[in-house]
Amino acid sequence: MTAAPDDLPPLAGLEHARLDWRQDANGETAPHSSAFDDVYFSRHDGRAETEHVFLAANRLPERFAHWRATRPFVVGETGFGTGLNMLCAWACFDAHAPAEARLHLVSTEKFPLERDDLARALAAWPDLAERAAALVAQWPEPVAGVHRLWLDQRVTLDLHFGDTTERLRLLDGAVDAWFLDGFAPSRNPEMWHPELFAAMAARSRPGATFATFTCAGVVKRGLKAAGFAWRKVPGFGRKREMLAGEIETPPEDERRRTTPWFTPPAPQPARRVAVIGAGLAGTTVAAALARRGVAVTLIDREGPGAGASGNAQGALYVKLAADTNRQSRTYLAGLLHARRWLEALDPEHTLWSPGGVLQLAPTERETRRQARFLANHPLPESVVRAVDADEAGRLAGLDLPHDGLGLSHDGLGLSHEGLGLSYGGLYYPLAGWVRPDALCRRLAASDGVSVYRGEVREISPIAGEDGAGGWRLALAGGDSAALAVDTLEIDQVVIAAATASNGFAQTAALPLQPVRGQISRLTLPSGAPAPTRVICAGGYAMPPLDGSLTFGASFAPNDADAATREADHAANLEELERTLPGYPAALAAADADLSPAALDGRAAVRAASPDKSPYAGPVPDAEAWRHDYAAMAKDATRAPERPGRHHPGLWISAAHGSRGLSSAPLCAELIASRICDEPLPLEAPLADHLHPGRRVIRDLIRGH
Ligand code: SAM
Repeated sequence: MTAAPDDLPPLAGLEHARLDWRQDANGETAPHSSAFDDVYFSRHDGRAETEHVFLAANRLPERFAHWRATRPFVVGETGFGTGLNMLCAWACFDAHAPAEARLHLVSTEKFPLERDDLARALAAWPDLAERAAALVAQWPEPVAGVHRLWLDQRVTLDLHFGDTTERLRLLDGAVDAWFLDGFAPSRNPEMWHPELFAAMAARSRPGATFATFTCAGVVKRGLKAAGFAWRKVPGFGRKREMLAGEIETPPEDERRRTTPWFTPPAPQPARRVAVIGAGLAGTTVAAALARRGVAVTLIDREGPGAGASGNAQGALYVKLAADTNRQSRTYLAGLLHARRWLEALDPEHTLWSPGGVLQLAPTERETRRQARFLANHPLPESVVRAVDADEAGRLAGLDLPHDGLGLSHDGLGLSHEGLGLSYGGLYYPLAGWVRPDALCRRLAASDGVSVYRGEVREISPIAGEDGAGGWRLALAGGDSAALAVDTLEIDQVVIAAATASNGFAQTAALPLQPVRGQISRLTLPSGAPAPTRVICAGGYAMPPLDGSLTFGASFAPNDADAATREADHAANLEELERTLPGYPAALAAADADLSPAALDGRAAVRAASPDKSPYAGPVPDAEAWRHDYAAMAKDATRAPERPGRHHPGLWISAAHGSRGLSSAPLCAELIASRICDEPLPLEAPLADHLHPGRRVIRDLIRGH
């Protein structure tokens, strides 16, 4: 019934909740589930019930009032529904918690409400209106997976869409207080399965509490078998009794049995963190840490938004594999995350444009690949859908001749007969384009981030207990006004320096390949045709920005030269013709100068890993791994129990290739969440997929 701990359920859309609106006992309209024939809440006393059953029975007012930990207090819930419980927990936190405390909410949901239903249901509570608005504005697409929402400066909500037991098994995080909700066991027996309680126990902090409205025998037995102590306490209203309790000693995490090397390092102090590299990878990490109250020193030789992140415009899109793999899943999660994150960061869209991306299928092969992708991935149309040539043409906003010659059939200029695109493709309505350089600068200017222009020559550990004494950075050539020292002592370090990331002794074992990429920029004459959305196939073209058309990009592995070349402009023009046959000719017909020498552009060197997924996580002590796991070279099934040793407090976010706009913000959240001892924003197997040590262990097993 449920997936094995390390299995991922299909990458698919979810069914929305089926609701009707019924009058409750007091004549007020409240949401009712037609599928489960049960209510979400009573409109008359829903809030009082939540406060009694979930908040008071978990002692949240007093626990919040005394919360002094640097990590957030974590509430876990089964069955998010309308979010009433979680909004009440948030209000309770605001009423009781000290100013510097943080709250992290984790909730599962298999049948998410439609956005309009959510807004309608929550409208019943006028004093929660502002909180409800924050939730409704960020309400995710119905796609199985983890969706992180920023409710306010100190409250985060992770919605784990999918079946509760399956989702809790995939959760990498531990809970302080559980709201055991979900429709009544008699109406929803599938959810209240013994495995649910085992999954809750495995994701509990020692001493974690729970509360639930029901006293059903299956719940009492399940909780007990999983290690929870329960007691009956007075229920709400007409319900005489309910259950509350706790688990003192949660079971060990079984998940690491077969992959002990991915065991995360123990949390350690993170008052001050240095981030090396101020491109997308570094600035997103810096902002994510600063938001959590960490003092960040962001160090870059050239300042924010240099290198591969310095382009004025970049496409925010992903190319997903026809057959599901972890890389594709990670990138789709990254795209959905980036989209929500950008909207929260810049609701005015000054740094980005959510106009959609059209992925054309100019060849038979690509058409077949896209069809296979759609058949394998029943995703909502709001995320990706097939479009035919007509619709693709309309979405592209370009009138192009079918024959690709750039001239009408009578040779007298463009006519509207036979114009459009001659093939369709996939449309990603949520994707778009970003101004990466401006984004990096904005993030680097976040409160709590100080920027140092200079170079880190060397990093060395400061001896401390368990080797976790922080780091000393040897600096060179910087503007000492910002930091009047040539060494910096700091709690933890995140390396986000693209191809330079493995230039330190501690990271030398992480393979990185330089990939040169050049974009071309053409000043558009007035009246010249231009795409209204990002269009990609082999290459891409973007909607005009500041009067220029950007297209590209060249892709040259193992070329680390960042000078622009005319030959690359010529290649980009050829690719533009292959992507949009007839478009270069239409530009020429509008008097654009398309000679490579006349084009403007920018080249940069990106970093890629051998498997083309980013590195995001703790830096492995490769030598220790080779020692500890040496036996695996002979027998890969015999994993020694020893957890992977890491350089304590050393992290990396690199190898984002040309997809950093999708991957870097999610990787930043992943790293910041680990550093600050919070639940992760993506499933445990995907966090493992991004682990910087994956190559070290793979090589060991293969006997390299
Ligand atoms: N906590 C909610 C609130 O504050 O509005 C009310 C929860 S409602 C009574 C129960 C929720 O559990 C529904 O949204 C339902 O879709 C969800 N649910 C039911 N079975 C589930 C399952 N197996 N996995 C995840 N969610 C489930």
